[in-house]
Amino acid sequence: MHFFSYKNDELFCEEVPAESIAEQVGTPLYLYSWATIVRHFRIFKDAFNGLKHLICFSVKSNSNIAILNTIASEGGGADIVSGGELYRALRAGISPDKIVYSGVGKTPDDIEMALKSNILMFNIESEQELKTINDVAEKTGNRARIAVRINPDIEPNTHPYIVTGFNENKFGIQIDNALPIYELAKGLKYVDIKGISCHIGSQLTEISPFIDALLKLRELAQKIKKMGISLEFLDLGGGLGITYDTESPPDPSEYASAIKKIAGKDEFTLILEPGRVIVGNAGILIARVIYTKITPNKKFIIVDAGMNDLIRPSLYNSYHSVMPIKKTSGETIVADLVGPICETGDFLAKDRVMPPFKQGDLVALMSAGAYGFSMASNYNSRPRPAEILVKGKEFSLIRSRETLDDLVRGEEIPEFID
Ligand SMILES: *Cc1c(COP(=O)(O)O)cnc(C)c1O
Repeated sequence: MHFFSYKNDELFCEEVPAESIAEQVGTPLYLYSWATIVRHFRIFKDAFNGLKHLICFSVKSNSNIAILNTIASEGGGADIVSGGELYRALRAGISPDKIVYSGVGKTPDDIEMALKSNILMFNIESEQELKTINDVAEKTGNRARIAVRINPDIEPNTHPYIVTGFNENKFGIQIDNALPIYELAKGLKYVDIKGISCHIGSQLTEISPFIDALLKLRELAQKIKKMGISLEFLDLGGGLGITYDTESPPDPSEYASAIKKIAGKDEFTLILEPGRVIVGNAGILIARVIYTKITPNKKFIIVDAGMNDLIRPSLYNSYHSVMPIKKTSGETIVADLVGPICETGDFLAKDRVMPPFKQGDLVALMSAGAYGFSMASNYNSRPRPAEILVKGKEFSLIRSRETLDDLVRGEEIPEFID
């Protein structure tokens, strides 16, 4: 459930009409509902009551520091994948002892920054990374807490681009090769082994792959224990899906109770890294229709948001519901909702039944709170959109629309070509 709804045929975010924000801030813009984020976070967290757990919000799903601060205020931690995300998480007030760091390509500089910040642990993804972390820790006089990210080789039934837990994926260490890595880690002087982690994919709409992964992790934990290593954390990653269209993913309470049934009496603290399920349906992208165009085969609604603002349709062929900001009468049409970018792949919706949008109308792309702005780029030299957070009757800019100066910031024309 979220707090975007129609009152008298007008779309509201909580108690604010979306149109008034679009008029004041301009388009395109990302609009988030604070109450929805908090509600989703609390539902997720409360579902794990009775089990020792830590919720580390996946920063890459939405990295705005106002959103991260909202999570911090609710007691959440962060799952980060870069030094930049570490910087954001700390700036937003997330406690370092609730930060876990995943990713296959952590550089020595990233590692040093994370060690100096004293984060909870690194989820290491290769033998070389493990050795590098040990070396950097020795150099900086720190100790590194680590978990090994395991690739449990599970079929999660989701889009191939967001499957991460298969043997052929670049992520983690194959479960069959895990024990030698733990053996190696045990012999390293500056590394403290803390856990096992995994993340099998995103937008999963069934519980069974998570349970399969959990069972594999627990089985591995027993073997590691026999090596004389005690573990504190099992990190099950993120990946719980949301409803974009007609999907019916398990709700967090079903997900949590299935997990509790298995791990409810374990001595481990369970770490969860939800992203999409917290923020996905807490945000929308609002665009304005610039032109409409009819070709012999198709109708096009051309809006001022493109694949640089919301790349999911182009990248994953994913579905975002298209809604009017103001409902009007008139027969629906079937059209493509496209952006201004010079790429055929620049579409937001294809062959979609939608209201008969006219020039100047405002359009909402729903469920854009996760992997929306955080994946936005400046392609075609388009300033990235503004981001707004609504809480009750209030709203505030949480990121200004980029300016033309922002577009060329850092660029120089060298003297030798002048
Ligand atoms: C992306 C990612 C997540 C979050 O995935 P969601 O599908 O948004 O829940 C969690 N953990 C890791 C390691 C990730 O890469």
